[in-house]
Amino acid sequence: MTEFTVIGAGPTGLTAAVELARRGGDVRIFDQKDGPSGLSRAVGITPQSIALLTPCGAGPAIEAEAVRFEGLTMHKGAEPILHLPLNFDDDSSIFGLPQDRTEAHLIAALKRYGVEVEYMRPLTNYHVKADHIELDFGQHIRAKTRYLIGADGVHSRVRATAGIHYVGRSLPGHWSIADVIAPDWPHRDRFCGFLLPHGQIAVVVPMASDRYRVVSSLPDALAALPVPLEPEKVIRESSFTIEVKRAEVFQKGSVFLAGDAAHAHSPVGGRGMNHGIADACDLAERLIEGTQKDYDAARRPLADEAIEVTERARKMLQSTGAAKSILLATIAAIHRSPAAQRAIVHQVLAG
Ligand SMILES: Cc1cc2nc3c(=O)[nH]c(=O)nc-3n(C[C@H](O)[C@H](O)[C@H](O)COP(=O)(O)OP(=O)(O)OC[C@H]3O[C@@H](n4cnc5c(N)ncnc54)[C@H](O)[C@@H]3O)c2cc1C
Repeated sequence: MTEFTVIGAGPTGLTAAVELARRGGDVRIFDQKDGPSGLSRAVGITPQSIALLTPCGAGPAIEAEAVRFEGLTMHKGAEPILHLPLNFDDDSSIFGLPQDRTEAHLIAALKRYGVEVEYMRPLTNYHVKADHIELDFGQHIRAKTRYLIGADGVHSRVRATAGIHYVGRSLPGHWSIADVIAPDWPHRDRFCGFLLPHGQIAVVVPMASDRYRVVSSLPDALAALPVPLEPEKVIRESSFTIEVKRAEVFQKGSVFLAGDAAHAHSPVGGRGMNHGIADACDLAERLIEGTQKDYDAARRPLADEAIEVTERARKMLQSTGAAKSILLATIAAIHRSPAAQRAIVHQVLAG
């Protein structure tokens, strides 16, 4: 019987497995995919995540490869209205790296501890017994574990099988996303946000040399930009919906939830993956030290706070009418005050 089993090899599950293995835990990790993901959902990675991933070696590798954003420019339409500085102290940096590359560094760290992700293993069901859990992967493939960690994303099978409800709502409408190669885009290290008419928004985020992520609340991210961005190549275009949801509880007996399986919110503020990494580190430490009974009480309030902060920010950025006038007046005041600029950077990057 394995001591710890992780379901899901996204950033949360990989971090949980790496941290358990690093601390001497006996761990297996399964994913339904047929191999590492080539998709990059999250881009922004915080210094807190890099610090958490430093003991296992992934943090320095991520930092070495990532783009370090040199600043953030907010526009009203095409007109720049606010430049926020970054990198003015230890708490004001943010890095950009496609999620698949962050995952690749975690997989490399996991291998150094002798653990391989077991792909093509979709968890279909499990049964909780007195002192262990029996896992069913279909096709007569079974395993036994003492503790089960559900890091299997928004549609978590671990959560559903435990009978834990995922409470909240799906926001109406589809957001669009485009990953492009654009050597002529002038803001190589700068995060650019655009406030568009009718409460719509768009952003351009550097991911790697000449590679950018464009996201918009409108259906066509590239067409939504009010300034020219001429892609040499469009790597992918897709759309996504936003879930604002939280699991009722993050643990039930020996079953634990972390990352998107436990909470989901809009990508505004870039917290999702970073929050999952923090959940995973916290849970791994508790499981090794035997303090896991406090995991839910420790992490659930932080998820509530992340949901509240990201929703407040999203609503503000998508405001219309009088609320938008207040937003623009606030931005103008921040633009005039370097102290307010530093405070807002700390607030956005905290957590
Ligand atoms: C467009 C977009 C942009 C984003 N930008 C950012 C950002 O800049 N910064 C940030 O921090 N966050 C961002 N996020 C959020 C971030 O992508 C997620 O929060 C993060 O991927 C969650 O990681 P996870 O490991 O918890 O779940 P996931 O990444 O969803 O991984 C879950 C894994 O579980 C596996 N799985 C599912 N069911 C089963 C099963 N039954 N059996 C076995 N395996 C299973 C899946 O194959 C998958 O590999 C963004 C999200 C989107 C959509």
